[in-house]
Amino acid sequence: MNSADITTVKSILSQPQKIAIIPHRNPDGDAIGSCLALYGFLKKKGHTVHVVAPNDYPKFLKWMPENDTVINFERENPKAKEVINEASVIFTLDFNDLSRVGQMEQVLKEASADFIMIDHHQQPSDYAMVTYSDVTMSSTCEMVYNFIDFLGETDQIDADMATNLYTGIMTDTGSFKYRSTSSKTHRVVAELIDKGADNMAIHQEVFDTNSPSRLHLLGVALSNMVILPEYRTAYITLTQDELDQYDFKKGDTEGFVNYGLTLEGIIFALIFIENREEGIIKISLRSIGDFSVNEFARAHFNGGGHTNAAGGRSETSMDETISRFNDILKTYKDKLNP
Ligand code: 5GP
Repeated sequence: MNSADITTVKSILSQPQKIAIIPHRNPDGDAIGSCLALYGFLKKKGHTVHVVAPNDYPKFLKWMPENDTVINFERENPKAKEVINEASVIFTLDFNDLSRVGQMEQVLKEASADFIMIDHHQQPSDYAMVTYSDVTMSSTCEMVYNFIDFLGETDQIDADMATNLYTGIMTDTGSFKYRSTSSKTHRVVAELIDKGADNMAIHQEVFDTNSPSRLHLLGVALSNMVILPEYRTAYITLTQDELDQYDFKKGDTEGFVNYGLTLEGIIFALIFIENREEGIIKISLRSIGDFSVNEFARAHFNGGGHTNAAGGRSETSMDETISRFNDILKTYKDKLNP
């Protein structure tokens, strides 16, 4: 954030504001963690603050401090709309385009509030009064820490805020192993532990709360995996019938896509998950190195994200999607074997 933006933000926040904080649809640990941490900070500063999530999120994030205050736009629609319509300031966190909030998009477009974007995804849209965008950042949670630092207020970070920020940084960096994890990330994380984030308890809450059915679903996913060594690619499919058979709950497939990348020589991994209710195949894409899954998802599957982690969707059947994917892959043989 440049000094003019910092001055603008300081001036806006010098008066009590009505603030709405919005994560992207299907929020993950970084989206929820950054929203809840910012919520804690802005409340301490005397503002009226609400977090409005476009839809529900997994159980393994619902233990987080202040989680009970989150308004679900799908479930509590009138209240959510009222908060957005009455807001004087809207923070949008962990997404780069208003289309990422699904049905909430129109309500945000009609809102009269000043927008502040904090995000680390590529190609941010130009809708905010202040855009704090940095694609080199590990996570939006690291950016919220920086944001509070820019305001000279890190002494306001308490144990709950530290816990929320730690959770988001941990989940978005694959437990501190992705390329975007810098020495600065580790310094921020160390600071958060000093401020009261219980790192071992957080890891357990997020990773050691599996249900037996989730592990059985993982077994199905792994046995469905197709490995294409000549394209250094591995992909997994999960149909709605398979999800139903294993009592699928939101978040149960989190992390499955990464298994492809644990294979020696594989640099491109995907998971295709059927969602019959939405009539789509949701696609998660991951890579190692310079192969940009952001560009791949944008070019072919109406998606985007980061160089090494992106998402997208297909509106045709699983079989057609896979067949189209295989055709597309043929045109990437050289890029996948540089
Ligand atoms: P995931 O595969 O975990 O859903 O998402 C990986 C990354 O890509 C995340 O940073 C997420 O925000 C982004 N992403 C996921 N789905 C989409 C999408 O449909 N469009 C865009 N632009 N980004 C996405």
